[in-house]
Amino acid sequence: MRRWKCKVCGYIHEADEAPEKCPVCNADKIHFVEVDDKGDEIALISEIVVEAPVQVVKPKTFRDRLAALVLKLHLHPISVHFPNGVLPVAVIFVALAILLGLTTFKEAAFYNMVFVLLTMPLVMGTGYVEWQKRYKGAKTALFMTKIFCSLAVLICLLILVVWRLVDPTVADAGSVNRMIYLGISLAMLAAAGIAGHLGGKLVFGSRG
Ligand SMILES: [Zn+2]
Repeated sequence: MRRWKCKVCGYIHEADEAPEKCPVCNADKIHFVEVDDKGDEIALISEIVVEAPVQVVKPKTFRDRLAALVLKLHLHPISVHFPNGVLPVAVIFVALAILLGLTTFKEAAFYNMVFVLLTMPLVMGTGYVEWQKRYKGAKTALFMTKIFCSLAVLICLLILVVWRLVDPTVADAGSVNRMIYLGISLAMLAAAGIAGHLGGKLVFGSRG
Protein backbone atom coordinates (compact mmCIF):
# COMPACT_ATOMS: atom_id res chain seq x y z
CA MET A 1 0.00 0.00 0.00
CA ARG A 2 1.34 3.47 -0.95
CA ARG A 3 1.26 6.35 1.52
CA TRP A 4 0.15 9.86 0.63
CA LYS A 5 0.55 12.94 2.81
CA CYS A 6 -1.61 16.08 2.66
CA LYS A 7 0.82 19.01 2.47
CA VAL A 8 -1.82 21.33 3.95
CA CYS A 9 -2.68 19.53 7.21
CA GLY A 10 -0.36 16.51 7.40
CA TYR A 11 -3.07 13.83 7.07
CA ILE A 12 -1.65 10.44 5.94
CA HIS A 13 -3.73 8.44 3.45
CA GLU A 14 -2.90 4.79 2.74
CA ALA A 15 -4.10 3.65 -0.69
CA ASP A 16 -2.85 3.13 -4.23
CA GLU A 17 -3.99 6.63 -5.16
CA ALA A 18 -4.20 9.93 -3.28
CA PRO A 19 -7.83 10.85 -2.37
CA GLU A 20 -9.72 13.42 -4.50
CA LYS A 21 -10.17 15.62 -1.40
CA CYS A 22 -8.43 15.54 1.96
CA PRO A 23 -10.96 14.19 4.52
CA VAL A 24 -9.46 16.43 7.21
CA CYS A 25 -8.93 19.84 5.59
CA ASN A 26 -10.71 19.39 2.23
CA ALA A 27 -7.57 20.24 0.19
CA ASP A 28 -7.53 19.03 -3.43
CA LYS A 29 -5.65 15.93 -4.66
CA ILE A 30 -2.78 18.10 -5.99
CA HIS A 31 -1.80 18.91 -2.39
CA PHE A 32 -0.92 15.25 -1.71
CA VAL A 33 2.65 13.93 -2.04
CA GLU A 34 3.79 10.33 -1.79
CA VAL A 35 5.79 9.57 1.35
CA ASP A 36 7.77 6.57 2.60
CA ASP A 37 7.22 4.63 5.86
CA LYS A 38 9.04 7.30 7.85
CA GLY A 39 6.82 10.04 6.41
CA ASP A 40 9.60 11.49 4.21
CA GLU A 41 8.59 12.76 0.80
CA ILE A 42 9.45 10.45 -2.10
CA ALA A 43 10.87 12.84 -4.70
CA LEU A 44 10.06 12.33 -8.36
CA ILE A 45 13.01 11.38 -10.58
CA SER A 46 12.45 14.47 -12.75
CA GLU A 47 12.81 16.66 -9.67
CA ILE A 48 16.14 15.05 -8.74
CA VAL A 49 17.66 15.53 -12.21
CA VAL A 50 16.70 19.20 -12.47
CA GLU A 51 19.17 21.31 -10.58
CA ALA A 52 17.59 23.34 -7.81
CA PRO A 53 17.71 27.11 -8.41
CA VAL A 54 20.04 29.05 -6.16
CA GLN A 55 18.04 30.21 -3.16
CA VAL A 56 18.45 33.82 -2.17
CA VAL A 57 18.60 33.83 1.62
CA LYS A 58 16.69 36.84 2.87
CA PRO A 59 17.62 38.25 6.27
CA LYS A 60 15.01 37.39 8.91
CA THR A 61 12.81 40.30 9.84
CA PHE A 62 11.19 40.88 13.24
CA ARG A 63 7.88 39.68 11.78
CA ASP A 64 9.46 36.38 10.64
CA ARG A 65 10.95 35.79 14.08
CA LEU A 66 7.63 36.60 15.76
CA ALA A 67 5.75 34.20 13.44
CA ALA A 68 8.31 31.44 14.13
CA LEU A 69 7.83 31.98 17.87
CA VAL A 70 4.03 31.74 17.53
CA LEU A 71 4.41 28.34 15.83
CA LYS A 72 7.19 27.03 18.06
CA LEU A 73 5.43 27.84 21.34
CA HIS A 74 1.95 26.91 20.00
CA LEU A 75 0.67 30.34 21.02
CA HIS A 76 -2.62 29.94 19.13
CA PRO A 77 -3.96 26.93 21.10
CA ILE A 78 -2.66 28.52 24.31
CA SER A 79 -4.35 31.87 23.68
CA VAL A 80 -7.60 30.18 22.56
CA HIS A 81 -7.94 28.30 25.85
CA PHE A 82 -8.33 31.48 27.92
CA PRO A 83 -11.47 32.91 26.24
CA ASN A 84 -12.85 29.41 25.51
CA GLY A 85 -13.07 28.70 29.21
CA VAL A 86 -14.74 32.02 30.00
CA LEU A 87 -17.09 32.39 27.00
CA PRO A 88 -19.50 29.53 27.88
CA VAL A 89 -19.61 30.78 31.50
CA ALA A 90 -20.51 34.28 30.29
CA VAL A 91 -23.37 32.86 28.18
CA ILE A 92 -24.67 30.74 31.10
CA PHE A 93 -24.58 33.88 33.31
CA VAL A 94 -26.52 35.89 30.68
CA ALA A 95 -29.14 33.13 30.61
CA LEU A 96 -29.37 33.07 34.43
CA ALA A 97 -29.71 36.87 34.57
CA ILE A 98 -32.40 37.00 31.88
CA LEU A 99 -34.41 33.91 32.81
CA LEU A 100 -34.15 34.08 36.62
CA GLY A 101 -33.59 37.82 37.12
CA LEU A 102 -30.27 37.36 38.94
CA THR A 103 -28.58 40.77 38.60
CA THR A 104 -25.17 39.72 40.01
CA PHE A 105 -24.87 37.21 37.15
CA LYS A 106 -25.65 40.01 34.69
CA GLU A 107 -22.67 41.99 35.99
CA ALA A 108 -20.41 38.92 36.00
CA ALA A 109 -21.42 38.07 32.42
CA PHE A 110 -20.53 41.57 31.26
CA TYR A 111 -17.04 41.53 32.79
CA ASN A 112 -16.41 38.03 31.42
CA MET A 113 -17.38 39.23 27.94
CA VAL A 114 -15.05 42.22 28.21
CA PHE A 115 -12.24 39.79 29.13
CA VAL A 116 -13.03 37.55 26.13
CA LEU A 117 -13.12 40.61 23.85
CA LEU A 118 -9.67 41.71 25.07
CA THR A 119 -8.18 38.28 24.24
CA MET A 120 -9.64 38.23 20.70
CA PRO A 121 -6.77 40.16 18.98
CA LEU A 122 -4.28 37.59 20.33
CA VAL A 123 -6.51 34.63 19.37
CA MET A 124 -7.16 35.89 15.84
CA GLY A 125 -3.60 37.17 15.31
CA THR A 126 -1.95 33.88 16.29
CA GLY A 127 -4.60 31.97 14.33
CA TYR A 128 -3.80 34.00 11.23
CA VAL A 129 -0.06 33.27 11.61
CA GLU A 130 -0.75 29.51 12.03
CA TRP A 131 -2.94 29.52 8.93
CA GLN A 132 -0.41 31.43 6.80
CA LYS A 133 2.73 29.62 7.94
CA ARG A 134 1.73 26.10 8.97
CA TYR A 135 -1.11 25.60 6.47
CA LYS A 136 0.25 27.87 3.69
CA GLY A 137 -2.88 30.06 3.79
CA ALA A 138 -4.92 27.25 2.18
CA LYS A 139 -8.38 28.54 1.24
CA THR A 140 -10.25 25.27 1.81
CA ALA A 141 -13.76 25.07 3.25
CA LEU A 142 -12.35 24.14 6.68
CA PHE A 143 -10.18 27.25 7.00
CA MET A 144 -12.81 29.57 5.48
CA THR A 145 -15.42 28.25 7.95
CA LYS A 146 -13.00 28.67 10.86
CA ILE A 147 -12.22 32.27 9.88
CA PHE A 148 -15.93 33.04 9.36
CA CYS A 149 -16.77 31.61 12.81
CA SER A 150 -14.07 33.61 14.59
CA LEU A 151 -15.27 36.81 12.87
CA ALA A 152 -18.84 35.91 13.93
CA VAL A 153 -17.66 35.54 17.56
CA LEU A 154 -15.91 38.92 17.38
CA ILE A 155 -18.96 40.70 15.90
CA CYS A 156 -21.35 39.10 18.45
CA LEU A 157 -19.03 40.07 21.30
CA LEU A 158 -18.78 43.67 20.11
CA ILE A 159 -22.58 43.91 19.87
CA LEU A 160 -23.07 42.36 23.35
CA VAL A 161 -20.48 44.55 25.07
CA VAL A 162 -21.42 47.82 23.35
CA TRP A 163 -25.16 47.17 23.78
CA ARG A 164 -24.65 46.57 27.51
CA LEU A 165 -22.62 49.81 27.78
CA VAL A 166 -25.32 51.82 26.01
CA ASP A 167 -28.23 50.13 27.83
CA PRO A 168 -27.19 48.63 31.23
CA THR A 169 -30.65 47.06 31.64
CA VAL A 170 -30.62 45.06 28.37
CA ALA A 171 -29.94 41.73 30.14
CA ASP A 172 -32.51 42.33 32.90
CA ALA A 173 -35.42 39.91 33.31
CA GLY A 174 -37.84 42.72 32.39
CA SER A 175 -35.95 44.07 29.35
CA VAL A 176 -37.82 44.19 26.01
CA ASN A 177 -34.76 43.04 24.04
CA ARG A 178 -33.59 40.36 26.49
CA MET A 179 -34.35 37.41 24.18
CA ILE A 180 -32.45 39.05 21.28
CA TYR A 181 -29.53 39.59 23.66
CA LEU A 182 -29.67 35.94 24.77
CA GLY A 183 -29.98 34.81 21.12
CA ILE A 184 -26.82 36.71 20.12
CA SER A 185 -25.02 35.17 23.13
CA LEU A 186 -26.05 31.65 22.04
CA ALA A 187 -25.04 32.34 18.41
CA MET A 188 -21.63 33.47 19.67
CA LEU A 189 -21.26 30.25 21.70
CA ALA A 190 -22.20 28.12 18.68
CA ALA A 191 -19.68 29.93 16.43
CA ALA A 192 -16.92 29.49 19.03
CA GLY A 193 -17.84 25.80 19.31
CA ILE A 194 -17.60 25.24 15.54
CA ALA A 195 -14.24 27.06 15.32
CA GLY A 196 -12.92 24.91 18.18
CA HIS A 197 -14.26 21.70 16.62
CA LEU A 198 -12.50 22.47 13.31
CA GLY A 199 -9.28 23.29 15.17
CA GLY A 200 -9.50 19.89 16.87
CA LYS A 201 -10.07 18.25 13.49
CA LEU A 202 -6.90 19.89 12.14
CA VAL A 203 -4.75 18.90 15.10
CA PHE A 204 -6.12 15.41 15.79
CA GLY A 205 -7.84 14.53 12.47
CA SER A 206 -4.86 12.70 10.96
CA ARG A 207 -4.57 10.37 13.97
CA GLY A 208 -7.58 8.39 12.83
ZN1 LIG B 1 -5.46 17.93 4.57
